[in-house]
Amino acid sequence: LAKASNHTFQTEVNRMMKLIINSLYRNKEIFLRELISNASDALDKIRLMSLTDPGVLAASSELGIRIKADAARRLLSISDSGLGMTRHDLVNNLGTIANYPLERRARFDAGRSRSPRLLQSGGQEMNDMIGQFGVGFYSAFLVADKVTVVSKHNDDDQHVWESDASSFSVAPDPRGNTLARGTHITLHLKEEAADYLQPDTIRALVKKYSQFINFPIYLWAARTETVHEPVEDAAEEKPETKKTEKTVWDWELMNDNKPIWTRKPSAVADDEYVTFYKSLTKDTSPPLARAHFVAEGEVSFRALLFVPRVQPADSFNRYGTKTDHIKLFVRRVFITDEFNDLMPNYLAFIQGLVDSDDLPLNVSRETLQQHKLVKVIKKKLVRKALDMLKKIPDDEYEHFWKEYSTNIKLGVMEDPSNRARLAKLLRFHSSRGAAMTFLADYVARMKPGQNHIYYIAGASRAEVERSPFAERLGRSGHEVLYLTEAVDEYCLGALPEYDGKKFQNVAKEIFDLDESDQQKERMEQYKAQYEPLLSWLQDKLGAHITRAQVSRRLARSPAALVATVFGWTGNMERLALSNAH
Ligand code: ADP
Ligand code: MG
Repeated sequence: LAKASNHTFQTEVNRMMKLIINSLYRNKEIFLRELISNASDALDKIRLMSLTDPGVLAASSELGIRIKADAARRLLSISDSGLGMTRHDLVNNLGTIANYPLERRARFDAGRSRSPRLLQSGGQEMNDMIGQFGVGFYSAFLVADKVTVVSKHNDDDQHVWESDASSFSVAPDPRGNTLARGTHITLHLKEEAADYLQPDTIRALVKKYSQFINFPIYLWAARTETVHEPVEDAAEEKPETKKTEKTVWDWELMNDNKPIWTRKPSAVADDEYVTFYKSLTKDTSPPLARAHFVAEGEVSFRALLFVPRVQPADSFNRYGTKTDHIKLFVRRVFITDEFNDLMPNYLAFIQGLVDSDDLPLNVSRETLQQHKLVKVIKKKLVRKALDMLKKIPDDEYEHFWKEYSTNIKLGVMEDPSNRARLAKLLRFHSSRGAAMTFLADYVARMKPGQNHIYYIAGASRAEVERSPFAERLGRSGHEVLYLTEAVDEYCLGALPEYDGKKFQNVAKEIFDLDESDQQKERMEQYKAQYEPLLSWLQDKLGAHITRAQVSRRLARSPAALVATVFGWTGNMERLALSNAH
């Protein structure tokens, strides 16, 4: 039998606890959300295992969460009949942060280097950051000075983990296996945290943070019942009853665990979506857009997608590491949020879930991931996500574009099958004025006879406005798109046309101005007339240029350096150089 042992926390855990205690002292209540969310995770795990091996539920088939307060001893307990933890799990999961998801670790590490300043300022930023990555189990120490965890896993005897936040001990439970399966956490509340023993406080917190947990959450609570008792000494032929108030203790269900996405979209109120989104993502702001739909046909599924108002700051550092934010359910059972293949990289910012009735439940996650219907689901999800973005109203689109324009441009480059859909979302500055324009609006404004969409790329609006390349176009009243973001020129390079109109980079050699026959004739005359100058230039500059020719694009400037059709423009060279340094 394993012996009782004492342990010190991993250094990172100590740091994390300090961080939590210092930054969340005004928001202690989130401890309950974290413990309920762990209970729910453990229940998800055992339920998932039971699909392939029903035997894992032999000890108990109950799947639920129970909360009990002992006001007299200032104890609050949260217990679940989930997976439970072995002795080894207790030491590792509640003593280190080694097995934290990579993404979370990355955020934690990022936060750590920023934390000294943040802690001093005690800022909202810190709160938001912690809110985003979730603080986990250690948040229990926000309200408790001692935490006892009793856990029973199918593969081990029941053990007790106990800690006062400075060190912890693990021992076999001297009472034996009192739990059928699962975890029972007891918080020895600090004096100032006594309010968390109040049933109304607990109910309010569960409603606020945990109402969408997919398992029943019960509270051990008293209710008064009116009972009609027969009066003892009443005459037998004329029985009398008297009303008495009786206090009855029982498990009271606190959440409505019918998943929101299974309801009809028309029957879900806006604020229900917002609350659900917040509990799903831990975001504190409402989403920028949402889509709730049922797909039918080749595969039927329900999905709920959201666009967060703010893109996590480290998104692009992690770009390409295949992290999406879509949870997969099969027939209401949570399967995984680690497929990381339900959204392409450029849409990794989309949060949400998919629930399908057509996928098999009783196969391993790996087998499921290979299932052909998963590809079909992904394809439809992406379409729906792009529809959702297309529907963002004008007054919100500005904000969306500021936050996510790079994602959409990368999408144009990376997702050929949705290129046309993505192109409809693009916006650029233009010579027309300060406002950005969609390509559709540009096309609607094109001059009669104009067949091309003109653009020029540069480091800033001021630079491209001064550029000689667009002079003639400006004079003739042709609109020119100004591409001032690094990714812009590559993006349009990947887009062969829009609405049947080809793009024309005005900094490139072949430059079709959509001219009249008369203009073309005059051009031929110029070519003959300037032949001596051209060969002189060719002679003098031959080492630096491909060729010298008469230009049709200039109005004021005498000459311009232009890129060949397949060559890099000056702007691309600038970008390549600045990346190399
Ligand atoms: P996270 O939930 O993000 O993994 P936590 O700090 O909340 O991080 O929890 C750490 C780990 O402790 C969990 O990953 C899980 O392995 C274990 N754990 C915590 N609570 C429970 C529980 N109620 N049942 C089983 N395992 C748990
Ligand atoms: Mg957790």
